[in-house]
Amino acid sequence: MPELPEVETIARQLRGLVTGRTVAHFRCEWHRLTEPEPAALFARRLEGRRISGVRRRGKFVVLDLEGGDALIVSLRMTGQLLFRDRDVEAHPHRRARIAFADGTALEFADTRKFGRMAIVDGAALEGAGERRRRTGEPLHRHLGVEPLSRRFTARWLREFLRRRGRAAVKPLLLDQTGIAGVGNIYAIEALWRARIHPLRAAGTLRSDEVERLHEALRWVLRKGIRFGGASPRDYRDARGQEGRMQQEFEVYGRAGEPCPRCGAEIRRTVVGGRGTFHCPRCQRAPRAGR
Ligand SMILES: [Zn+2]
Repeated sequence: MPELPEVETIARQLRGLVTGRTVAHFRCEWHRLTEPEPAALFARRLEGRRISGVRRRGKFVVLDLEGGDALIVSLRMTGQLLFRDRDVEAHPHRRARIAFADGTALEFADTRKFGRMAIVDGAALEGAGERRRRTGEPLHRHLGVEPLSRRFTARWLREFLRRRGRAAVKPLLLDQTGIAGVGNIYAIEALWRARIHPLRAAGTLRSDEVERLHEALRWVLRKGIRFGGASPRDYRDARGQEGRMQQEFEVYGRAGEPCPRCGAEIRRTVVGGRGTFHCPRCQRAPRAGR
């Protein structure tokens, strides 16, 4: 599932590819893609609009539209945004096509069909988790702090971990209303780098551990961006290419291999329903879980 570095890579590429182009036609090929908005209405709102910029917010690709709205795309498990500047065969799992007035197009392909699109007020994306999200409210209005922004300081992280002190640290890092953009892979890599066990209660982290975790999160995310994202499975960038970050993982997907730091055998466990990897020697289990 694409996380911050993958979505950032796509957004940066698309910025150069689609900014300034005008939407001529929107064709929806999967009826749940735009729900709850009917696809016909969605198309009417999009057609004739010029794209003024492309950015990322959390794990959403955001295409800003002239006039203030934004088209947001949630790639979820297998979504891909593919830019087409010449005639190529459509992706076999194409779910939508945005045709531009100059003959180029943006395809949305999605094997598993969990991806979604919405047209939203661009300003609504800017809050940072101030208000608690109620059931059924759209996630994009409740995204938390961007971990590569200046707001995300070690002090902010310390307060956040203290507020949610009883929660296990790893699932907390995945909560998009707290820190936006971190997913399973980068949480695993950051916890290994910071030498913190995934099941530690957030409130038990010492201040030197919080500092390490703050540094580690930013370090792994930046590295992910530098390597064009990770493609352990389906991720492709806007030109259809794989990322290279999967070759750089220290512990993710490496159960049974030696820890690059101490040589102990990397273990796979399940935390909060997600496959998790850690080094039992560098990342000491909390007392109750030992
Ligand atoms: Zn180790």
